[in-house]
Amino acid sequence: MREGQNAVKSRVLSGLRPTGKVHLGHLVGALQNWARLQDQYECFYFVADWHALTSDYADTAGLTEYVVDNVADWIAAGVDPERSTIFIQSLVPEHAELHLLLSMIVPVAWLERVPTYKEQQEQITDKDLSNYGFLGYPVLQTADIIIYNAQYVPVGEDQVPHLELSREIVRRFNNFYGQVFVEPQPLLTSFPRLPGLDNRKMSKSYGNAINLSDDAETVRKKVMQMYTDPKRVRADIPGTVEGNPVFMYHDAFNPDVEEVNELKVRYRQGKVGDVEVKQKLARALNTLLDPMRERRARALEKPGQLRDMLFASSARAQKVAAETMARVREAMRIKY
Ligand code: AMP
Repeated sequence: MREGQNAVKSRVLSGLRPTGKVHLGHLVGALQNWARLQDQYECFYFVADWHALTSDYADTAGLTEYVVDNVADWIAAGVDPERSTIFIQSLVPEHAELHLLLSMIVPVAWLERVPTYKEQQEQITDKDLSNYGFLGYPVLQTADIIIYNAQYVPVGEDQVPHLELSREIVRRFNNFYGQVFVEPQPLLTSFPRLPGLDNRKMSKSYGNAINLSDDAETVRKKVMQMYTDPKRVRADIPGTVEGNPVFMYHDAFNPDVEEVNELKVRYRQGKVGDVEVKQKLARALNTLLDPMRERRARALEKPGQLRDMLFASSARAQKVAAETMARVREAMRIKY
């Protein structure tokens, strides 16, 4: 069968942790890509609530708070619940069963050598990450992927080692119990690392994010506070465009290339103030966000419907997961 001709679409799986509001970093780093992939693949997108617990286990009060809010933003960004299966990880407990079974065959050393494991333990000092669940994060991630037989996982370069580990786990499983799983492949996405208002990586934990749910005035105020060329104390001093987050944003979000180029020329010559550059950026961002605000509002108009959709698609996901688990139990001879 030739590709694209009556072929069953390959399956893609990806998830986001519901740890806060969805921001522009998520939009460029994940959601725009998720929306695009829907044309070509059968997509499963999930709210990774158990993954959030691997680091945020001490206080679970906010765990479910952001789920509906985040999914409304996914829809606003173009993820279509009619075309993709949008589900909540913990509503498909089969993920936990597969995680447990995989944990029997995964050598601890494989997990300890995952680069992000030590890195995050060192960097995140306000949480105790010496827990078993955090070490096992890539095993749970592997279960998430292979339980749907997903062939492709959209990832950035930093996630490639995780996926390589998933492939090693699949090979080890198949070696012990027979050919049950396919090895998932990375779908490499070269997304820019979007800086936040203060020029560090945009992240909820730095308080430097522009959220998809921010209203126009909030976006305008945030843009006006953005870090820019620090050497430029007056508008008539020539400024630097390269590495300047305000221009990085113009390149990423302002579709009026002529306006952007003209601003860059004047900026380099010291013939435009930061205020004008930022005002134009705020306008471009609000033009981009306006239709998303509308879609988000429409999705949240009837939160009951959104919840019903999540339960119905989680049940659809569970059906697939349950079929896989039946094959897994059979292969492992866990039958009574
Ligand atoms: P996090 O909420 O930090 O766990 O991020 C989840 C995913 O969102 C990441 O794997 C990236 O794909 C994307 N993402 C988050 N923040 C950014 C950012 N500042 N720039 C680009 N992508 C981001």
